[in-house]
Amino acid sequence: MAIETVGIVGAGQMGNGIAHVFALAGYRVLMNDVSEPSLAKAIDTIDKNMERQVSRGKISAEDKAAALSRIATTLTLADLGQTDLIIEAATEKETVKQQIFDALLPHLKPETILTSNTSSISITRLASRTDRPEKFMGFHFMNPVPVMQLVELIRGIATDAPTYAALHEVVKKLGKTAASAEDFPAFIVNRILVPMINEAVYTLYEGVGNVKSIDESMKLGANHPMGPLELADFIGLDTCLAIMNVLYDGLADTKYRPCPLLTKYVESGWLGRKSGRGFYDYRSGTPVPTR
Ligand code: NAD
Repeated sequence: MAIETVGIVGAGQMGNGIAHVFALAGYRVLMNDVSEPSLAKAIDTIDKNMERQVSRGKISAEDKAAALSRIATTLTLADLGQTDLIIEAATEKETVKQQIFDALLPHLKPETILTSNTSSISITRLASRTDRPEKFMGFHFMNPVPVMQLVELIRGIATDAPTYAALHEVVKKLGKTAASAEDFPAFIVNRILVPMINEAVYTLYEGVGNVKSIDESMKLGANHPMGPLELADFIGLDTCLAIMNVLYDGLADTKYRPCPLLTKYVESGWLGRKSGRGFYDYRSGTPVPTR
C-alpha cells in the first residue's frame, strides 16, 4: 500500500519534529493533540524551524510554504482514521498510549499501519492490544527530528515483513537512516544513553561533581557534543525517568534503578527545557545550573 497521508498523535517536541520531516518529504500530515495550545505551538515551532533551514540554504522558501500547506491539525482523534500511517507520539505513559489506540482503532482503515514513537515501552505488548499486531511497529525518531539522522525500526513479535519493508521505504524517503532493533526495553539508543544520563544524575546526587563540572567533563573529556545533564533537560526529565523505570521493571536488574534525585526533579515539575527548569534554569534566557 502506498503511504501518502500520515496521522500524528501528540504534538509535543517529537510530534512537531515528525510532522516537519514528513511534510518536507511530500506526505500530507494530520496532527492531533488533546491540547489546542500544543497544536498551535507545534505549528509555530515547525514554521520557525523551517525558516531556520531556509536561512541556512537547506530548503527553499517554496519548499517551506509547500510543506506547511501539507500540515493540518485536529483535536478530534477520529479524524486521523483515513490516514495510511499513524505515528503515536504522545506522553511516555503506557495507559495514555493504550487509550489512544483504543479510541483510534474503530476509525482506522484495515490497511493502515500503526506505529508508536515510544522510547521504551514494549512494542509487542502495545501491538497485542490492537486489532492489527502484524501491522504494528516501533518507529523511533531521535530528538530533534529534523536534525538527527537515525530512525530505529522495532518489530514486535507479530510484525509482518511487508509492514517492516513499508516503513524502511518511508525512512529512505525522509532521507534518514534506519537501524533495526529487537523489541527489548528501551531498544538500542536509549538502552545505552539513558543509563548514562542516570549515572550522571547519581554523580550529582553523590556530590562527585556539580551540574557544570559533570557536563563540562563529558563534553571536554569524552567529546560529547552536549553534557549528560544538559541532554537530560533537552530530552525531558519525565521521559528519562519513564525510560529508567521501563528498564528497571523490564530487565529486573538493580543496575537500572532510577536515581532518587531524578525522581525528585520530576516530582517537583522541573522537567527540563520544556517546563523552563531542570538541571538548568532556562527562565532568564541563559541556562543557569540549579545545583
Ligand atoms: P511532550 O511532552 O513534548 O509531548 C507529548 C504531547 O502529547 C503533549 O503535547 C500532550 O498534550 C500530548 N498528549 C498527551 N496525551 C494525549 C492524548 N491522549 N492524545 C493526544 N495527545 C496527547 O513529549 P515528547 O518528548 O514529544 O515525547 C513524545 C513521545 O516520543 C514519547 O513516547 C517519548 O518517549 C518519545 N520520544 C521522546 C524523545 C525525546 O527526546 N523527548 C525522543 C524519542 C522519542
